[in-house]
Amino acid sequence: MQIKLYSTLTHKKEEFIPIKEKYIKMYSCGPTVYSYAHIGNYRSYIFMDNLRRMFKYNGYKLNHVMNITDVGHLTSDADTGEDKMEKAAKKEGKNPYEIAEFYTKAFMDDLDSLNIDKPEIITKATDNINEMIQMVKEIVDNGYGYETSKGIYFDVSKLDKYPILSNNDLSGEEHGARIEVDPEKRNPYDFAIWIKAPENHLMKWDSPWGKSYPGWHIECSAMGRKYLGENFDIHTGGVDHIPIHHENEIAQCKGSFGHNPANVWMHCEFLLVDGGKMSKSLGNTYRLKDLQDKGIEPLAYKLFCYSSHYRNKLNFTFEGVKSSQIALNRLREGYLKNLESKEIEDNIDEKITEFENRFHEAINDDLNMPVAMGVVWEIIRNNIKSKEFAKLLEKFDEVLGLDIKKSKQYLQKEIEVPQEINEMIEKRNKAKLEKNWEEADKIRDEIKEKGYIIKDTKNGVEIEKI
Ligand code: AMP
Ligand code: ZN
Repeated sequence: MQIKLYSTLTHKKEEFIPIKEKYIKMYSCGPTVYSYAHIGNYRSYIFMDNLRRMFKYNGYKLNHVMNITDVGHLTSDADTGEDKMEKAAKKEGKNPYEIAEFYTKAFMDDLDSLNIDKPEIITKATDNINEMIQMVKEIVDNGYGYETSKGIYFDVSKLDKYPILSNNDLSGEEHGARIEVDPEKRNPYDFAIWIKAPENHLMKWDSPWGKSYPGWHIECSAMGRKYLGENFDIHTGGVDHIPIHHENEIAQCKGSFGHNPANVWMHCEFLLVDGGKMSKSLGNTYRLKDLQDKGIEPLAYKLFCYSSHYRNKLNFTFEGVKSSQIALNRLREGYLKNLESKEIEDNIDEKITEFENRFHEAINDDLNMPVAMGVVWEIIRNNIKSKEFAKLLEKFDEVLGLDIKKSKQYLQKEIEVPQEINEMIEKRNKAKLEKNWEEADKIRDEIKEKGYIIKDTKNGVEIEKI
């Protein structure tokens, strides 16, 4: 089945043609690990997860790279301000490497709790410094880069066209106002690709330009080329990357090896809060943990994200995400009803094919998750219950990533177990330890009379309400 993707470059939804049949080379801009990622960030990674899963559903293999930015991302996305890592290190009284390690782990744990299918290669900027220096040298040798007292700058006037993604008109007054004027820059939109480190800067490397460190944009250009080559299929990120980071990535690749590296550039829209952007600098962010503290699972947030197409803004409210938690449990119950159905239904093959086609068409149509979810809810609401439908939902979950095969476990976690029952379980555990099996069995029967079934598993005792 044809796959259509919206390309930021052409502003159109187009048929996707891979460079190599049934194989995807993809690059996603990863987090800057100077603090905890917020749920807005995770919207971008849920989008990335859906994209990976959609390709797998269509029988593709992937070589997907995501970077971890652990140096060089300044407090402004352009080239002013402090390095975010160094700023955090000072604030927390640690060194920047400790900061990076801590928040990378927190990020990975969150990806797990969101059941995000991780890229094949996850690589840190600081592990790829030589490739970055090499690229800067090429840019300078090819006449696109020049040295100032602050570092190496990219000369955008040397390009055939800049910008190409964002269609910003740079000829107006606006650009002079937006960019701080640096007298050493040849053009106001020139940007730093390599930055000379001040004396007290902690992260710095030897380079032909003295002790210095990479600019954020060169990191992604160099890592993309190192792991995927000079031409790959897809590059993803959030919409905020379009006007600066991705524009500059393309510029650097042109300056280094002559062309834009990615065939399709895809961008996820923002998660809003109270109608405005959710961002760390505005101080209006929530973490997954804040949701969990209110009884909302990360997977409910994932389902919440499916209520809007990735190219539309999505407004976050606690009411909205609470409804998604209720919906998620309904989905789990519906799946289990189908799974446990003993009915043998004739003539559902046609229905299954229809559902399957509609779901497949929706995901292949530029990841239309709201429409795909519409098919899921039709199955759940259907009066006919059948194991075949449960199998179909499991298949859909290869794309949804809601872990529905574990529905029973998730629903059980939701059960409020009364204190009295917990005490009885404790007593039974003690009896078991003392090898008093008769007593243990007796307590289990008493618990059953009170309406709970307990099962001994390798993870401990599981409780089910009758
Ligand atoms: P950062 O760690 O700041 O580089 O951001 C990581 C990713 O999250 C990038 O792809 C951003 O575009 C994305 N992002 C940041 N804020 C939001 C938001 N409010 N909604 C959706 N994506 C976001
Ligand atoms: Zn990037």
